[in-house]
Amino acid sequence: MNDNSGVSGNKLSPRIIPRDAHTMSRQQVSPNALRVLYRLKDAGFQAFLVGGCVRDILLGRTPKDFDVATNALPEEVRHLFRNCRLIGRRFRLAHVIFGQEIIEVATFRSSGAPSLDDEPSHDEEAESDDRESDSDESVVADEEPIVASEHRVLDAGGRILRDNIYGSIDDDVWRRDFACNALYYNIADFSIWDYVDGMADIAARRLRLIGDPVTRYREDPVRMLRAARFEAKLGFELDAASLAPIDEHGGLLANVPPARLFDEINKLFLTGHGRASLPVLRRHGLLRVILPAVEDFLVRHPGSPVEKLLLNGLANTDLRVQSDKPVTPVFLFALLLYGPIAAYIETLPRERWDDPQSILDGCDRALRQAHQRVTIPRRIALGVREMFALQPRLENPRGRRALRLLEQSRFRAAYDLFLLRAQVGMAAPEVARWWTDLQAASPEQREALASRLGSGGGGRDAADESDALGAGGDSAGTGPDGRRRRRRRGGRGRRRGGAGARVD
Ligand code: ATP
Ligand code: MG
Repeated sequence: MNDNSGVSGNKLSPRIIPRDAHTMSRQQVSPNALRVLYRLKDAGFQAFLVGGCVRDILLGRTPKDFDVATNALPEEVRHLFRNCRLIGRRFRLAHVIFGQEIIEVATFRSSGAPSLDDEPSHDEEAESDDRESDSDESVVADEEPIVASEHRVLDAGGRILRDNIYGSIDDDVWRRDFACNALYYNIADFSIWDYVDGMADIAARRLRLIGDPVTRYREDPVRMLRAARFEAKLGFELDAASLAPIDEHGGLLANVPPARLFDEINKLFLTGHGRASLPVLRRHGLLRVILPAVEDFLVRHPGSPVEKLLLNGLANTDLRVQSDKPVTPVFLFALLLYGPIAAYIETLPRERWDDPQSILDGCDRALRQAHQRVTIPRRIALGVREMFALQPRLENPRGRRALRLLEQSRFRAAYDLFLLRAQVGMAAPEVARWWTDLQAASPEQREALASRLGSGGGGRDAADESDALGAGGDSAGTGPDGRRRRRRRGGRGRRRGGAGARVD
């Protein structure tokens, strides 16, 4: 253990692990990242790979992206690369752009620099729905600041834009979150610089905050979500000292800007380990802070079909990520909010469960509630609504109209949700099969399939069942808590009950 790792601004010297004493090689590094590193080095600067890419390579995993740290100032980086733009207001980062791949180059931060989370990453920008705010970036990129000294940048009028925010690698390391994320791969001699015993943590599969955990969580509560994310993604265990304060300090996440929580939720659930993220978040009491209504539903309906639907849906999403298929927050939020939506509908009088408007009201209410903590961009919220609004029409396909449904932009997501519902007993499997067959069919076969329906539903008397989220209303087969329902309307065992999930 490093006795002094709690001291920010510490000038300890690193343990330098030479190239033949570690397993990382340039073959595992993206050629574009190598280009950036070499150009910086050839211009006389220090250049290191740092963060998740070093960690992942040492673990034998493929890094998501490559981050470079250097003593070159952002303006100096820009002069070295034509394909470079500077982003960020308080702390400027250089993005070197190679088609789809962006190599982020950050100047070493000093102890006075804004924290690492302070500026949006390119992922976050891409996901942001708030187009107006993007203009900040172009304004910044166009202005020409004056570099007065290594630590002072002035605007044309002499106003200090940034002061004392750039430092050396000895400063930079203490700003990072976990020791396993604070390893630096030096392009000059292929050694790894380890100030905080990060190599030992990687070997032990341990997540350990650098410095005093309470202080680090207070500085940036999102580090608690990052801890959960790395636990789920890497299968690492949080060390006792980093785990202990989460219980008491988890609530601090309620003060984090909701847009940032939206980005973090996407990273937790849409990057290939979403199924694993859910139980970790719940174990740490963090789901309760970021999405209270979701946690509330899961607590009240343990083992329910809705919980199964959520877990199956997350597992499917992980498979899509693993096979490079696109994934969307629309589908994710439909899964997460299914419980709260269904729970709301069951608070309505029974005669309204069948009303499509009830489904939309349930969506709006659940989205509004979630929006109090997490920014849900408008286009995402609309998508969730559309997915739910299509459920009754999927449940009750009617002749030619069913064919038109195939053309709807949200059809595929709605169908995927419908399949999940059928898997857990919340929709009729034969109807789900009918839709699957319909999509695989040729145009002529489609006509035949559709006309076989007539005005009825896929194999059952769905004509009068225009409700049907079927999470288990009073007369449905199974409630969200997995219990069989006793009463059956008219004794026919039809699924009814709107989006209704029983909340009792
Ligand atoms: P991945 O890219 O696999 O999700 P990562 O570790 O690379 O994981 P990023 O969010 O890309 O995570 O951040 C890159 C590095 O920046 C981290 O490894 C860490 O050193 C540092 N970092 C990022 N966010 C924070 C934060 N909130 N507090 C402290 N350090 C951070
Ligand atoms: Mg990264």
